Amino acid sequence: MLFKSQGVVIYGLKPELLFALGQVDAIFRFRFAHEAVLTNGVAPRAYASLHGAGMAVDVRTREHFEWIQWRHLPEMHDAARQVQAWLDTRGFDVVLEPDWLTPSDLLRRFSAEKLERLLGKDYAPTLNEEQLDTLRRELTPHLHVEFDPKKGEEPWPYVD
Ligand SMILES: [Zn+2]
Repeated sequence: MLFKSQGVVIYGLKPELLFALGQVDAIFRFRFAHEAVLTNGVAPRAYASLHGAGMAVDVRTREHFEWIQWRHLPEMHDAARQVQAWLDTRGFDVVLEPDWLTPSDLLRRFSAEKLERLLGKDYAPTLNEEQLDTLRRELTPHLHVEFDPKKGEEPWPYVD
């Protein structure tokens, strides 16, 4: 696991997230022959989100790295799906952003002013694919992993 910068802090992350990062790193090393890059650990200022509580992490996926550019998107999607398959039943939610965001998720990421600037004054509430892509390209691509166990999900199941 590599860190984006010294500003990325893991002290204060819940142990479940450290477990998840190990899994993500293993998948990235196997699939891309490259360590995963942590871009967001504990973020005290994001107090309202799971990031503020040390219950979520972000890992860089594409761009800023020549080895995962847009042309590698199918491989990135496969890797993200594998992370999801490994972690989903363990109580984690895994989202490849912005790719897996629904249109309404996407719209919620922007202020009304920003939407107007990006899409023009009279965009219809139902966005077409081109408009959705415009919004997606405004967001930093990353894999968001949060620990939010549902009933019956256990991060480390017992074998006995
Ligand atoms: Zn996140």
